[in-house]
Amino acid sequence: MKIFVLTDNHASRDYAAEWGLSLYIRSSKNILFDFGNTNLFLQNAKKLGIDIDEADCCVLSHGHWDHGNGLQYISGKKLICHPDAFIKRYRKTGEYNGLPFTLEEAKEKFELILSREPYFIDDNIIFLGEIPRITEFESQKTNFVKEDNTTDFVMDDSAIAIKTEKGLVVVSGCAHSGICNTVEHARNVSGMEKVYAVLGGFHLKGGDELTGKTIEYLKEVNADIIATSHCTQFPALVQFFNTFGSKPFTPGMVIEL
Ligand SMILES: [Zn+2]
Ligand SMILES: [Zn+2]
Repeated sequence: MKIFVLTDNHASRDYAAEWGLSLYIRSSKNILFDFGNTNLFLQNAKKLGIDIDEADCCVLSHGHWDHGNGLQYISGKKLICHPDAFIKRYRKTGEYNGLPFTLEEAKEKFELILSREPYFIDDNIIFLGEIPRITEFESQKTNFVKEDNTTDFVMDDSAIAIKTEKGLVVVSGCAHSGICNTVEHARNVSGMEKVYAVLGGFHLKGGDELTGKTIEYLKEVNADIIATSHCTQFPALVQFFNTFGSKPFTPGMVIEL
């Protein structure tokens, strides 16, 4: 299996970056996972020799602009996401933080599969649906509100789990649900205990209790590969580098698993 980084926050020599995430997963199915903020994911895919038309389906991790704005540049695809991904949402400071189109508009553009439950893309690849929040230290706070000004805990935040011979591969977008909750849900849904790799945005600041407890949890999980990037802030990236040797993604990077 290969995971191609199409967009991430950190530029590389030959590939531009932006605030956002987009990955292309080449496995038993080809999956475009998140779309970044602009059409940069398409430009970088082209440079990498990836034909987006060959994607069997698209998965949106959650309804935030930095993962979904790029959807404006494609259409006609099968798109899997949580039904709440299209709600209007804002940062508490007032900026719009949701997708640039409504559910009705998305239905016209895509073959939508909306699922709160886990959805099996094939026997081994699972869109995890809504992730139960079971740890006492994750997703306790949020910076987001809904249109009616109630707090938004981004319940649509999901991830992908892939069953491999080496164990589970868990791919997150922003992990607003908490990366530990995400891994536990992936284990429960797949029935597979061994975790081989955990990658994606972990939404951690670093230097705080949440990051510390997350690292302790991931040490116990004992995955072969832990790789975080995107919304994981610099102090947390340093802690993950020092603990797991994980370097931030850059567009153009190919992760072989
Ligand atoms: Zn987000
Ligand atoms: Zn994000």
